[in-house]
Amino acid sequence: GLGASTGITAAPDELIGFDRRHVMHGFTNFDRDAAPGPIFASGRGVRLIDVDGNEWLDGCAGQANVSLGYGRDELADVAASTLKSLAFGTHFYHNRSHVWASQLADRLAHITPAGIDQFFYGVGGSDAVETAIKIARFSNITNGRPEKIHIIGRMNSYHGVSYGGASMTGDRAMWSNIGPLLSGFSHIAQPESGSVGSAQALEDEILRVGPENVAAFLAEPISTPNGLYCPPDDYWPQIRAICDRYDVLLIADEVLVGFGRAGALFAINRWNVSPDILTMSKAITAGYLPLSVVGVSSRVREALAASGEKFVHGVTYGGHPAACAVALATIDIMEREDVVGQALRGGDYFAQQLSRLADSQDILDKSSARATGMMVAINLKLDEYGDEFGVRVHEEFARRRVLVRSYRNNRTIGFLPALTIQTEDIDAIVERVGESISATRASLGV
Ligand code: PLP
Repeated sequence: GLGASTGITAAPDELIGFDRRHVMHGFTNFDRDAAPGPIFASGRGVRLIDVDGNEWLDGCAGQANVSLGYGRDELADVAASTLKSLAFGTHFYHNRSHVWASQLADRLAHITPAGIDQFFYGVGGSDAVETAIKIARFSNITNGRPEKIHIIGRMNSYHGVSYGGASMTGDRAMWSNIGPLLSGFSHIAQPESGSVGSAQALEDEILRVGPENVAAFLAEPISTPNGLYCPPDDYWPQIRAICDRYDVLLIADEVLVGFGRAGALFAINRWNVSPDILTMSKAITAGYLPLSVVGVSSRVREALAASGEKFVHGVTYGGHPAACAVALATIDIMEREDVVGQALRGGDYFAQQLSRLADSQDILDKSSARATGMMVAINLKLDEYGDEFGVRVHEEFARRRVLVRSYRNNRTIGFLPALTIQTEDIDAIVERVGESISATRASLGV
């Protein structure tokens, strides 16, 4: 058995059977014959234990959210004590809220980029993106500009699975087989790393659609699906200037990159740019409970309030007391342990070790080893070695019990571990990556 503290009474093979028979896994084709993965039961730091007692190394921090590692009693305890005080609280309507929501909003007003000081609570990244889109449209529609509702995003992006999030996401696969998407969205190209002038694509698109029709530009400050490349230094300042020129709101989607992931509390801080709207989720609670927050400037709030029309929006579990309490404790830990500094140093070390591995593994493109904070990546030379290598090497990662990310059709291996990952755990991940590459080479005879 798994132990009384889990509350799980079924035996390991039964649990595996339940999963196979009854669990619908996201982002799959529901193939019952697909190779099963681990079913986890516990975790400490970056190490996870599956139902059979095997240890795995988590190089992705869950879904890039478990930023402080697994097994932090402080976070679990704060959740438990908050639930004992107040099991649930809401801030629908003018006339109720709870103390954790107020305290967290004040804390966020102090740490988010300059100008952001009003906060709307939700439960996850998809609803945060949805809220941001609605805010941008509502503030124009209720202020006599009903045409100014178009939203520009970027290709090779991910912004969630709701119909708004899917419409926003720059990935054709997300747009297929689900009927009509929302109208009024378009996508420009990502900036090319090291190039200048790529922000011009936004101005061109605003002029094509007509500035009188464009409400907002929404993007991740550093794009994950595009392969964790840091944009050129002039990109975000130019984007801000273009948005200002055409009265277009700048929405920074910091669901993944926020709270230290990119080596700054918020990634957009790296360029000293302030967005009008900021989406946050994932690491805001270090992954311990679901929470999202959309921050807006006072100017955006005034625009929303100007007409007196009701913004009919909000989700039941948005800003749950326990989640807000865990977010406060997460911010405490981040400050106390200099987690942003750890992410910067750890990420650099990680990229150096990948670069060293490339000395003995020619399939790794040494020059591509990169880290922006704890967003670490290296490219596989699949144009030379063939796409099959990319598929097989990920099977080997699983066999060696290391969880990593794949981007750009396996051309990029991504690492988004806990920001607090220790050197020996980075070494262990890099070693397993090396062994997986060697095993793939041996099995393919290359
Ligand atoms: N926006 C970005 C940038 C994300 O990375 C994600 C999730 O990975 C989302 C939105 C959607 O968040 P969620 O999966 O919590 O709905």
